[in-house]
Amino acid sequence: MLPYKTHTEKIRLIQKAQLSLIENVEFFLSQISVHKDINAFNFLFDDAIDRANKIEQKIKEGTSGKLAGMVIAVKDLLSVKDKPLTCSSKILRGFEAIYTATSIEKLIDEDAILIGKTNCDEFGMGSTNENSAFGPVLNPLDKLKVPGGSSGGSAAAVAANFCDAAIGTDTGGSIRQPAAFTGTFGIKPTYGRVSRYGLTAYASSFDCVGPIAKNVLDLALILKIISGKDELDSTSSESNEIQFPSQNKKYKIGLPKEYFKEGLTEEVKTGIEITIENLEKTGHEIIDISLPHSDYTIAAYYILATAEASSNLARFDGVRYGLRNEKIRTFDELYNLTKTEGFGKEVKRRIMLGTYVLSSGYYDAYYSKAQKVRRLIKEDFDNAFREVDLIISPTAPSTAYKIGDTVNDPLQMYLGDIYTVSANLTGIPAISVPYQSENSLPIGIQFMASHFNEEILLDIAQQITE
Ligand code: GLN
Repeated sequence: MLPYKTHTEKIRLIQKAQLSLIENVEFFLSQISVHKDINAFNFLFDDAIDRANKIEQKIKEGTSGKLAGMVIAVKDLLSVKDKPLTCSSKILRGFEAIYTATSIEKLIDEDAILIGKTNCDEFGMGSTNENSAFGPVLNPLDKLKVPGGSSGGSAAAVAANFCDAAIGTDTGGSIRQPAAFTGTFGIKPTYGRVSRYGLTAYASSFDCVGPIAKNVLDLALILKIISGKDELDSTSSESNEIQFPSQNKKYKIGLPKEYFKEGLTEEVKTGIEITIENLEKTGHEIIDISLPHSDYTIAAYYILATAEASSNLARFDGVRYGLRNEKIRTFDELYNLTKTEGFGKEVKRRIMLGTYVLSSGYYDAYYSKAQKVRRLIKEDFDNAFREVDLIISPTAPSTAYKIGDTVNDPLQMYLGDIYTVSANLTGIPAISVPYQSENSLPIGIQFMASHFNEEILLDIAQQITE
């Protein structure tokens, strides 16, 4: 175990010379190597120890940044200059990033130590981390189970004590669901709060970068650092600076009736019920609400996200990046053979789906309809947030699946995203807070808030975990 819980405690120990940052990084590296079977990392960074040395010096001199010495793992969808960037895809084998993502640059500027790139579902497409050219990631809490996805490597790395925290990305739940499956904390910020520059696009109008951590304080600290307008991402926003810890306020919390109709497992239901009881006991008000278009969220998400993906992934054509089949004779063959060989099954499925819904004959029936549904879902949430401060739900309908269970049943896997995709369709922030029930793997309690209200998500998360 580590001798510290939060980043603040860690700094204090280093200042008092009770903890050596180099030894700390060495400890993480040894854990990663002992538990290699978890397969959380695609690559480790060999300059981590060197950086630990420099940053320890800065801490002692009192010149270090706000994340000094925090050891952070980065999902392999984000660029770090001169390091491999594969998106867990064969098509990017051998590719190295030529610049650093803005969110990661901000971590480096505040003296975080990057330890490596984490495994994930290929291009962020999946909920189990089984769609990876690097093989599946095992859940550190039960190695027969998946860690969730697509940021499965990031969540597993945090849960297994391979690092202090990790950066994930969330297009339809990929930070929150793996956090739920591994008993960690994950937050998907408001769309635009964190720059997407340097994040390989899956579905650009949904993609968000955010942290996974072991406690709310670290989560808040990282989120605060990576937030902000970026000239290099025109969809990023000027946002209020996150103040944390906030003041232990009492909230009106909405309970959507559509969310509890069917499909939840017993342990998830019980976990939510107990949490709600405790919230009421501690002075929060639970209010029944309705989100009438909930039944359409999965369909709208998978139409729009695959449409955007089919367009975003067109750039992997064998000309510009990574893999190129060398047996080609014609231009068509260059495209065909490279993509056939380079992309995995799920990515191909999504490109096909996306191309189909965008094709001239079906555009109106699918893509354009789904855009309209997206607007209706947003209106459901706008209406709800006129009445309540927060919405509570499970993060996922069950605990972590068995490895292999959904591999041949993609639809089943898509349905597991029921509680998470709405926050991406509407752009609102959402957090997953771990809940440990007896005799089962942890579940995630999700809270959603209106745009740019991450502070209250962090506040409620802190209150229920105290
Ligand atoms: N499971 C969802 C999907 O496969 C979400 C993925 C994500 O958030 N990157 O699209």
